[in-house]
Amino acid sequence: MICSKCRRPAVIYQRYSGLHLCRTHFEADFDAKAKRAIRVHRWLSSGDRIGVVHRGERDSSALLYFLQKVMGRRRDVELLSISIDEGIRSYSDTSLARSFAEKMGVRHVASSFRGMFGLTFDDMASHGDSRQACSSCSTLRALCIERTAREEGVTRLAIGSNLDEEARSLFLTFLTGKAERIIHPPEHRGGSATWIKPFIYIPEREVALYASYHAEGGRCRRCPHASGGLSADIRSILAMYDRNHPSTPYALVNLGDRLGGLGEAGLTHDRDSRQCTGWDEPVICSCRSCRMRDEVADV
Ligand SMILES: [Zn+2]
Repeated sequence: MICSKCRRPAVIYQRYSGLHLCRTHFEADFDAKAKRAIRVHRWLSSGDRIGVVHRGERDSSALLYFLQKVMGRRRDVELLSISIDEGIRSYSDTSLARSFAEKMGVRHVASSFRGMFGLTFDDMASHGDSRQACSSCSTLRALCIERTAREEGVTRLAIGSNLDEEARSLFLTFLTGKAERIIHPPEHRGGSATWIKPFIYIPEREVALYASYHAEGGRCRRCPHASGGLSADIRSILAMYDRNHPSTPYALVNLGDRLGGLGEAGLTHDRDSRQCTGWDEPVICSCRSCRMRDEVADV
């Protein structure tokens, strides 16, 4: 196949647009979509210090590459890389994040659960309810990131979440009835930094292709504490639906945008949600995580 915009060989076919694109036009399209996401969400202002949350895999490296390419010459914004060592054996590894940041000429900051909370997540999980470990880890990880961001004066926390991941996350939220997560998504929950997702409108396979050109790191490894039953079902349901309806992920993410915007426009938090007083960070309390922390503290 040849590119729909020039006569060079195509590297990808976009079913949703009907276009075959060569590498040059694919990358131009990719960068334009990511820039548009930043623009429409107003995710960048003069004076921002952007912390790219690096999970040690290619998508995070691709995001750091993209932001360095787009903003590297701007003197009014600053980039740094942040990674978290949860202390999960055979899973947590911040070395790839550090080496890629050094290659890009970006300062890297590593934090750990042990340094922040005094215990590794393996230690905590061995004392808590293992069935709830995954979601508790997510909350603790976000707290660790937000505290690191505050210490570093970070105003935006960038994550490499793509269109398909966002669609799956929203679908999971619908199926589990957690309206609070839609109306007040994590990026709006009131920490010192705003969470931003420049790849939110780009399909997973396009992020993977972009990463194959510019990024380093492995694939996302499976955490030994992940349960994943419902998440795996959602992945297969949406993949099956996407074959005949390629606009489905866009529809879900747009719905999430509109509902999130509605929440920001004036809906109030559920009465059961409250400001957590057990942590320094201004986040909505996650009782399960607080219980896990308290249980560990009592040991
Ligand atoms: Zn072309």
